[in-house]
Amino acid sequence: MTGRFAPSPTGEMHLGNVLAALLSWLSARQQGGMWKLRIEDLDPQRSRQEYADRLMSDLEWLGLTWDGEVIYQSQRTDVYEQYLQQLHALTYPCTCTRNEILTAQAPHESDGRIVYPGTCRPKGAESQKSKVDSLITSVDRPAAIRLMVPDEMIEYEDRVYGHQSVNLATHCGDFILRRSDGVFAYQLAVVVDDAEMGVTEVVRGRDLLLSAAQQIYLYRLLGKDVPTYSHHPLLVNSRGQRLCKRDQSLAVGALRERYSAQDIIGRLAYAVRLIPAPEPVTPQQLLTYFSWSKIPNQDIMMDD
Ligand code: GLU
Ligand code: ZN
Repeated sequence: MTGRFAPSPTGEMHLGNVLAALLSWLSARQQGGMWKLRIEDLDPQRSRQEYADRLMSDLEWLGLTWDGEVIYQSQRTDVYEQYLQQLHALTYPCTCTRNEILTAQAPHESDGRIVYPGTCRPKGAESQKSKVDSLITSVDRPAAIRLMVPDEMIEYEDRVYGHQSVNLATHCGDFILRRSDGVFAYQLAVVVDDAEMGVTEVVRGRDLLLSAAQQIYLYRLLGKDVPTYSHHPLLVNSRGQRLCKRDQSLAVGALRERYSAQDIIGRLAYAVRLIPAPEPVTPQQLLTYFSWSKIPNQDIMMDD
């Protein structure tokens, strides 16, 4: 059994990221499994080594220790390229600029999702919405690479959110595997890396619950074993907005000045109902209390 934490070094770690790390660590360690760390620094514009360093220092401070070498996605483009080649028969170039910009966003920012209408899908290939105008495409532009998706349900179980059934054709359409600027898409990299790192359990925020469908489709095409999925509720502020890297007050750096690691772990553990009171606790001590059945599926309000 192997779990992992896969943060993007695009800002300081905030409490929501700590929750993902903590739950994934607890689940892996409770099963006597390994827990690995992967830095998702695919996007050179948004990623900074300084944030990766801060992240690792915060994890160590919190007592969330990982096994083996840290994997950096930025060093694995050759590997992604090989897997992309394997999928060649099912992919096609796309020059739709508007879409490539939207898809280049981090996965958790794409809640106002758009469904790619199949504009550049080769003629003759099965297409759901082939009549969309192609005026915005231009052959002079560098192309993104899209994967054709079938018009059928992908079914899976999430340990917290239960049975999911997603039709990729209506959920996202043919999705991007490599952006027009050459940067590999999160969806491809996450599957390749989790498969190659031997990850058997994926734990992360529920903003990525439906992304699992795209990922499962890729696992099947690549002939790899699909991991189990456990998505957790999101932490929201008093206005009901999800915590993000802009919420500086709940960034770990700021919290470290006011609280101990045990205080923070205790607050989070209480918030997800692992312990009956928000008392200081170490991740190690929490192992006795941890159970997926306790984790609520409602988002959690967290004030600073
Ligand atoms: N890198 C993604 C993030 O920071 C998480 C990806 C994953 O856990 O699958 O939101
Ligand atoms: Zn296109």
